[in-house]
Amino acid sequence: MRNAIVRDVQKGRLGREDVCDAHPELLRAARNVGKPSGETCPICEATGTVEVTYVFGTRLPPGGRCPGSATELNRLRRRSEPVLCYDVEVCPDCAWHHLTRKYPAGGKREGQRTGRAL
Ligand SMILES: [Zn+2]
Repeated sequence: MRNAIVRDVQKGRLGREDVCDAHPELLRAARNVGKPSGETCPICEATGTVEVTYVFGTRLPPGGRCPGSATELNRLRRRSEPVLCYDVEVCPDCAWHHLTRKYPAGGKREGQRTGRAL
């Protein structure tokens, strides 16, 4: 999917402004807590794209929580409430962003059978 979008930009079917529209909050997180992904930005060819993880779930902000450290991220992933994690690759230079992974975490495994019945 990443490649398809990049091809569309190269062919001029999509403008840079269509794909480089990262939210200011996301860019801030990328600069502060982003982990270097070792990848080159496919849009502006800067070598500094980073990975940011957002966690969504109950008792978390509606816009998701962006953990500031690996410790905090691990704590969120081990919560008893289920959470949904989004790994996003961001280029702080041109604001390109791309969802790389989405996966559920947290939740009590042994509690899956209970809680269904009201
Ligand atoms: Zn870029």
